[in-house]
Amino acid sequence: MSAIIAPSGAVDARTNLVDPFGRHVTYLRVSVTDRCDLRCVYCMAEEMTFLPKRDLLTLEELDRVCSAFVRKGVRKLRITGGEPLVRRDIMSLFRSLSRHLETDALDELTLTTNGTLLTRYAAELAECGVRRLNVSVDSLDPERFRRITRRGDLAQVLRGLDAAQAAGIKVKINAVALKGVNEDEIESMVAWAHGRGMDLTFIEVMPMGDIEPERIEQFMPLSVVRERLAASYTLTDTSERTGGPARYVRVAETGGRIGFITPLTHNFCESCNRVRLTCTGQLFMCLGQEDAADLRAAMRGSEGDDRLEAAIDEAIGRKPKGHDFVIERQSRPAVPRHMSVTGG
Ligand code: SAM
Repeated sequence: MSAIIAPSGAVDARTNLVDPFGRHVTYLRVSVTDRCDLRCVYCMAEEMTFLPKRDLLTLEELDRVCSAFVRKGVRKLRITGGEPLVRRDIMSLFRSLSRHLETDALDELTLTTNGTLLTRYAAELAECGVRRLNVSVDSLDPERFRRITRRGDLAQVLRGLDAAQAAGIKVKINAVALKGVNEDEIESMVAWAHGRGMDLTFIEVMPMGDIEPERIEQFMPLSVVRERLAASYTLTDTSERTGGPARYVRVAETGGRIGFITPLTHNFCESCNRVRLTCTGQLFMCLGQEDAADLRAAMRGSEGDDRLEAAIDEAIGRKPKGHDFVIERQSRPAVPRHMSVTGG
């Protein structure tokens, strides 16, 4: 293992997953299911065909592959989906992965969720060592929330946020900026999130998977969002990072932070430290490219983990330089899979 400079600038001597561009892969995002209890308009089609359950990695296999990554130097695991909390018995995976926090092999075990099941699981997540989590909320208007998610109950999600905070978990809100849909809520969402002690990150809609409405209609560059916020708030750039792609500004009036994830207008590939595992064991080295490595075959092909670890090394050795998302009228999706497949 060689000493490396992590994106934060700190020296990190603990990973041996280094890609051809010298980037150090310390962050694995794992989609544990492609299923979701919501159908957000920009994410999924109304009628989705989900994978047959037999194609999914078992919870034991998910633990096995995550643990192989941890041995190789991954320091942060994010469980996502689909909606991770709808996977049956998902808490047993959190419980078993928490052993890596106890041994300090892992810095962070976290998840991205729509929050609908947090009232049930927040306390248990905290017991498993989850200290922070991301909840996706695109509108604070109950009717609009239901329209965007095609079925969601905002009040249930808000109760989930209460439960997470009561359990001592720090919550960050993610909101996809949607032109003509939630753009009038940008300022009020900041006031709400910061008023509850939560950071808020805006995300540009990405061209992933076929969905009904044209994405060009929904796309809103975050430069516009930022300009609008700057009219109401005093924003100061910070170099603070949370291990992901967001760039942050601090808001003088609230003391809180706003993050911007801008895959379209400013890609963040040069500091990419992550790879993504699907629930069927395909490892995507880039969210916006189609190349993947079949870790399920490597894992099922042998009892020991040598083949799995070799397959991980080989995959990191071909991590591409970056993605090239473009949103233009009538353009095809950059990648055919929905976000729920690779995990957001
Ligand atoms: N169900 C969980 C949730 O709602 O956060 C985790 C999975 S979801 C796919 C993760 C994130 O991806 C959410 O914040 C969602 O808004 C975002 N997302 C989904 N499709 C997207 C797209 N096409 N462009 C940008 N963000 C997207």
